[in-house]
Amino acid sequence: MQITIALTKGRILKETLPLLAAAGLEPQEDIAKSRKLIFPTNQEGVRLLILRGSDVPTYVQHGAADLGVAGKDTLLEHPSDGIYEPLDLGIARCRLMTAGISGAPLRPGRIRVATKFVQSARRYYAAQGRQADIIKLYGAMELAPLMQLADEIVDIVDTGNTLRANGLEARDTIAHISSRLIVNKASMKMKYSPINALIEKLAVAVSERDAN
Ligand code: AMP
Repeated sequence: MQITIALTKGRILKETLPLLAAAGLEPQEDIAKSRKLIFPTNQEGVRLLILRGSDVPTYVQHGAADLGVAGKDTLLEHPSDGIYEPLDLGIARCRLMTAGISGAPLRPGRIRVATKFVQSARRYYAAQGRQADIIKLYGAMELAPLMQLADEIVDIVDTGNTLRANGLEARDTIAHISSRLIVNKASMKMKYSPINALIEKLAVAVSERDAN
């Protein structure tokens, strides 16, 4: 039986590989040093895919990958009822927050919000009863308030250094973010035994990591 797990390069890969190794799963070669996108593992039939983070939920939703590791920020932008989210891997923790120019008073009435996280921003401002026009950007969100493109931004904040370096302040927390294990619902049914065994081993690996 073939099992395909979708990952992304960078921090998620670096922190997920030790968890997979603790669950008995290791790639046959050094993924970080390779330009390949499909990697066999020491377990027959189990392979790893390397994708863009925002494509991981898409692959898992369609069953092109059985499992994946994706940031909660990405999952919030990509709601799908074809995906289970059985395990918080506790990797790449940060917060999705609103931010604006330091010390600037909150603007009453309709505001403009620049963000890559359009769905999350739309839901958040609607839930707050604040009218917001959302402007989609793909990066360097910090620039938008400084250039009067937007009154606020919605962005990922870890230390807050990026915001401070650009004269911005974090305001409200929209969501606590970390990487999650996701599973295609049909795969979970059809390949229950190996997938469930892997989830259980990963859960043990996460709690052992956190205990140290
Ligand atoms: P910081 O300056 O520490 O608040 O980091 C903020 C920037 O780093 C953000 O604009 C993000 O692009 C990036 N970043 C920090 N932590 C994460 C994370 N866990 N996942 C994705 N991006 C992150």
